[in-house]
Amino acid sequence: MNQEDLFKKLIAHSKEYGYIFPSSEIYDGLGAVYDYGQNGVELKNNIKKYWWDSMILLNENVVGIDSAIFMHPTIWKASGHVDAFNDPLIDNKDSKKRYRADVLIEEELAKIEGKIDKEIEKARVRFGESFDEKIFRETNPRVLENQQKWNDLHSHFANALNNADLAGLKQIIEDNEIVCPVSGTRNWTEVRQFNLMFSTEMGSTADSSLKIYLRPETAQGIFVNYLNVQKTGRMKIPFGIAQIGKAFRNEIVARQFIFRMREFEQMEMQFFVRPGTELKWFEQWKETRIKWHKALGFGESNYRFHEHEKLAHYANAAVDIEFRFPFGFKEVEGIHSRTDFDLSQHQKFSGKKIQYFDPELNESYVPFVVETSIGVDRMFLQIMSASYFEEEIESSDGKKDTRVVLRLPAPLAPVKLCVMPLIKKEGLPEKAREIIDELKFEFNCQYDEKDSIGKRYRRQDAIGTPFCVTVDHQTMEDNTVTIRYRDSMAQERVAIDQVKSIIGNQVSLRRLFEKLKS
Ligand code: ATP
Repeated sequence: MNQEDLFKKLIAHSKEYGYIFPSSEIYDGLGAVYDYGQNGVELKNNIKKYWWDSMILLNENVVGIDSAIFMHPTIWKASGHVDAFNDPLIDNKDSKKRYRADVLIEEELAKIEGKIDKEIEKARVRFGESFDEKIFRETNPRVLENQQKWNDLHSHFANALNNADLAGLKQIIEDNEIVCPVSGTRNWTEVRQFNLMFSTEMGSTADSSLKIYLRPETAQGIFVNYLNVQKTGRMKIPFGIAQIGKAFRNEIVARQFIFRMREFEQMEMQFFVRPGTELKWFEQWKETRIKWHKALGFGESNYRFHEHEKLAHYANAAVDIEFRFPFGFKEVEGIHSRTDFDLSQHQKFSGKKIQYFDPELNESYVPFVVETSIGVDRMFLQIMSASYFEEEIESSDGKKDTRVVLRLPAPLAPVKLCVMPLIKKEGLPEKAREIIDELKFEFNCQYDEKDSIGKRYRRQDAIGTPFCVTVDHQTMEDNTVTIRYRDSMAQERVAIDQVKSIIGNQVSLRRLFEKLKS
């Protein structure tokens, strides 16, 4: 299946099985806004718990907060968002479609990378064991030519971004003959800046109302509470503050399903450190965060670090963790060394002293900050796209069949087990209910008695339930059940009182946390 088909199927599957619905669907939807359904909300909550506990439980010096979405408008002036939270936009005059100029160029870079990768893969097949990728990259004329093209484009792009040179971005689009994916033409407007913040008004009368912004990131809620947390928690540097919450951006183009939304959720952690130590902590958090991703078992080669072409106005180092989505490697998380920019700005704009007295140095300073910032929804999309499989299998009557299975990591799966009576009579349903009544305090359980067992298994595979427990006549005699494993489809007969520990071991987040140690 090609990646585009896979992505379309994933979107349809997410809707059909109660993961994600377009927002306001009966009114034809609202651009780039989505709702999470009955299974989606469970998966999302589990992702958040995986992140939250990995921050709060595993780090003695990280604590959490939950700050309000509405904040004093001066905060966004101080943070630089009012003046600089812009994206460069460009329109195609024929299709009337709007694009981010930087994204169009990034896609062009990715195309060139794709050509290089293709050459390498072809050669790998041709030369087999003796293939040396490094030498091939250094000597193959087609690879060298494309690499040169990539380097030139990349350096022009970085220059234009760093100088906020909008005409330069337009020139790059023209020079590289980048066309609109819809109309196929090069009939572009000039590039303009567009501020991404949504605003609204607070207050009951027009005169006294205050223009406020819907926060475009959760981080500022942490910065403005730095003093509160440090003092009340008697926190000693280095320490971190974590937060999960909604953020809003009036994205110019919002395609690719939940990858880029106008209302989304972030999980951010700001780690406050002594000035001069920030790059050491930056490296440490890079390692910690990539391990957190890789612990899910989706394959090491599907992740990479990406250095930023342009550092944000507040940063002295920045890197993205990218995942190989069906539409290519894309950012899931950003790790930024934000210097003392934010706290210093808030100190200046609020007039309040925001400093830390370091008893070891016997001096006060504005702490430096390393932040890790990840989107819940992008993480959700990553997990769904890495877990969706269509497999050829043989059904019980020997015929070929296809099963769709979501191989979700068991600790994140929305439903942990489904209990099924083989038939709807002779006390089997009651026995199945008894098992659920015992297990429902620990796990999210489902009960299903409709259709053949095979069909019921298939339904659970499609929503990613890792375990099915079947109650049959033998259960009534010896208190054993069949447990069926989603991934291997293997079945095993076990005593009912073993079920809790078998499942408990597999679905505990501890299994993931233990991988973070190594
Ligand atoms: P991009 O370059 O893709 O616009 P960004 O660099 O602006 O992203 P950050 O400001 O670093 O993103 O935000 C941190 C994280 O928040 C991102 O890594 C991403 O996971 C998530 N995120 C940002 N914007 C969106 C969005 N519009 N929809 C969903 N998630 C988002």
